[in-house]
Amino acid sequence: TDAGTEPTIEARERHAELARELDEHQYRYYVLQSPAVDDAVYDRLMRELEAIEAQFPALVTPDSPSQRVGGTFSTEFTSVDHRERMLSLDNALNEAELDAWAQRVERDAGSAPRYLCELKIDGLALNLTYEKGRLTRAATRGDGRTGEDITLNARTIREIPERLAGDDVPDLLEVRGEVFFNVEGFEEVNAAQVAAGEAPFANPRNAASGSLRQKDPHITASRPMRMLVHGFGAREGFNPKSQSEAYELMHAWGLPTTERYRVCDDLAGVKKYIEEYGERRHRLEHEIDGVVVKIDQMSIQRRLGSTSKAPRWAIAFKYPPEEAMTKLIDVQVNV
Ligand code: NAD
Repeated sequence: TDAGTEPTIEARERHAELARELDEHQYRYYVLQSPAVDDAVYDRLMRELEAIEAQFPALVTPDSPSQRVGGTFSTEFTSVDHRERMLSLDNALNEAELDAWAQRVERDAGSAPRYLCELKIDGLALNLTYEKGRLTRAATRGDGRTGEDITLNARTIREIPERLAGDDVPDLLEVRGEVFFNVEGFEEVNAAQVAAGEAPFANPRNAASGSLRQKDPHITASRPMRMLVHGFGAREGFNPKSQSEAYELMHAWGLPTTERYRVCDDLAGVKKYIEEYGERRHRLEHEIDGVVVKIDQMSIQRRLGSTSKAPRWAIAFKYPPEEAMTKLIDVQVNV
């Protein structure tokens, strides 16, 4: 790609049209909680936009949907700035895209990367701030820089500790994770909605988003929401060497980390994990929409850095619709 190539009129027009459409879909998804199209359709539109931008870099502006962490927020809650930005994740929609990501990573890593695999839960991202071990704030992701202060609501979730346990807790830690419903909890909430004459939630993600952003925390408290930690932001006195070490430390302090992560030495191991959970995914206690693959070593994470929207050291592998599954993940693992 040549940064100097002048975009054609067709490219300009299609780009503007896609940007408008994606903006509208984001608004419906994040604000109205009522998407007009499937995620797969949205992802395809985004890919088309990105392809045009790759061909004509002049069209990449800071306000392009390709450059922003999606999610504006309502004004019902006080807005708060995150100490460190909350990013989104890039997607791999098939095995070839996963391979391409791994190739880039291995080329730029500087040393042999280890891969950490974990489940991608489709809930609501939450940022918990712990100061000297005490929970002082909980906020939604919002646009990545500024979110909504939902501290009172988050305090009603049993899995979120008010205080970190132990005498080695850091001075400051932003804990990032996903708030969600188990399949059973989701059914319970929807049954209660219907019994109260209200409309049921379309999916567990909407239910989590709606339940966490209640003006009355008592309503949040009445709903069986869960949280699983999948990262961290700003920190003082917390210097893990790897993502997995961070999880073990946070677990020891009483934070709800997952037991289902796995560190793999190579990509074959990653594909095996993806395949295993592809088969098991409908038997889990909560829904998943993919697998997140991260580089375990913090030194490599730092070296790879982030784009304006997502870390380069992580990727979300999204499971294709059921029928296409066996074709797209044709894994050959030799063990
Ligand atoms: P995303 O949901 O695809 O991925 C990023 C998020 O994953 C993170 O913010 C984090 O909260 C979450 N996550 C879950 N498990 C995780 C783990 N183990 N490790 C790290 N993070 C984990 O990205 P997004 O920016 O929130 O949303 C974009 C996606 O939303 C699109 O790809 C599309 O599928 C969907 N969307 C759909 C529409 C629509 O109209 N249908 C509109 C906008 C967005």
